[in-house]
Amino acid sequence: MLGIVDPWFFAAVALGVVVVSGAIVLVRSDRALREARSSLRRSAAAGAERDRRDAEEQAALDVLRATLGSGVIRLDRGLRILAATDRAHALLDRAPGTLIGRSVMEAFLDPSIEGLASRALRRGSASGEVRLTDADGPAVAVRAARTPGETVWLVLDDVSELRRLQRIRAEFIDNLSHELRTPLTTVSLLAETLQRDADGVGDVLPARMRERIGKIELETGHLVQMVSELLDLSRIESGGTFDMTDDLDVARLVAASAERLRLFAERQGVRLVIDVPDHVPPVRGDGARLGQVVVNLVHNAIKFSPDGGEVTVRVRADGGEVRTTVADHGIGIPRAAQGRVFERFYKVDRARQRPEIGGGTGLGLAIARHVVDGHGGRIWVESTEGQGSAFTFALPAATAAPVDR
Ligand code: ADP
Repeated sequence: MLGIVDPWFFAAVALGVVVVSGAIVLVRSDRALREARSSLRRSAAAGAERDRRDAEEQAALDVLRATLGSGVIRLDRGLRILAATDRAHALLDRAPGTLIGRSVMEAFLDPSIEGLASRALRRGSASGEVRLTDADGPAVAVRAARTPGETVWLVLDDVSELRRLQRIRAEFIDNLSHELRTPLTTVSLLAETLQRDADGVGDVLPARMRERIGKIELETGHLVQMVSELLDLSRIESGGTFDMTDDLDVARLVAASAERLRLFAERQGVRLVIDVPDHVPPVRGDGARLGQVVVNLVHNAIKFSPDGGEVTVRVRADGGEVRTTVADHGIGIPRAAQGRVFERFYKVDRARQRPEIGGGTGLGLAIARHVVDGHGGRIWVESTEGQGSAFTFALPAATAAPVDR
């Protein structure tokens, strides 16, 4: 019996096993199928969501591109144009799409922009300004920035109108200052003579009258100073160039300029210390303008020092630069104002000056910054309120390798 039953039994068992495992496999594969389907559905949904977000992003970028006043260009490492907005094409006077694939030089026809883009590639960012097409063409400010993928973005802004308005303002100030200067100089000279006459006649004039004459002289002096500073600034700002033909001995120039204020310092009870070395590398520049910078800084240092204070003027050669520092122990400048003192007409607080010296124009440091910038130098201030200020300007030494700026 067993001998007969066995094969069938085993066959049946085997069949059962096959059926059961088939069923299991079927059940498993059915589940896998369902899982695969739902995962497909999920990833399809995620893909659709991604597509929707991409489309939204693209639409937002299109709106940004259409409304942005700036033109935007993207360059590859070889400084060829990968992409450019319509505005960039319009600024460069090209038909839409025709800039793609061109080199920066072909697009701008100006080597300075190529230099600017390669500086951005090396250093991360750079900026400059260029007149497109010809001398009367649009003035375009260009800012360049490197992206992490080593491409370069160029952002172009048309600043022609701004420059036109600046020119009108400079011309207006220039004309006005010229018109004011002649009568003011006459009034100032008359006031000076009147003061001398009053001093000469001793007690004949009442003290009150002498005091008033003194005030007239002081205030007309301020007006003359203000007008001449306004004239200077408008000339420098409207692109007045500096006479850069001389190799200057900055140590001697600074000492001589500071010396001019010794009498003023003595009158204010301030000790003036001039500390310059015998030799510093020569600096290529405009001696008259740089002398004016020193006078402005030393004048301020004395003006904002207390009676009995000390002002130090120091020159040092430092790493291819010649640095001049004017330090005082006066009232100092609050941190928030330190970035603004080089703006024209900016004054920290009109009430801070010593009343006997009177107010300034708020132009001295703006002029100083323009002059130093025009020499390829830097000017900055370090100050602690209540403890004093140190203004430093650094000029590139003529013998040093040209500074890559
Ligand atoms: P101003 O003719 O008013 O001196 P400046 O442009 O030379 O014009 O200076 C701008 C302002 O910066 C001053 O009005 C003053 O508030 C501040 N300032 C300049 N130098 C000093 C200094 N050495 N100590 C304190 N404040 C200073």
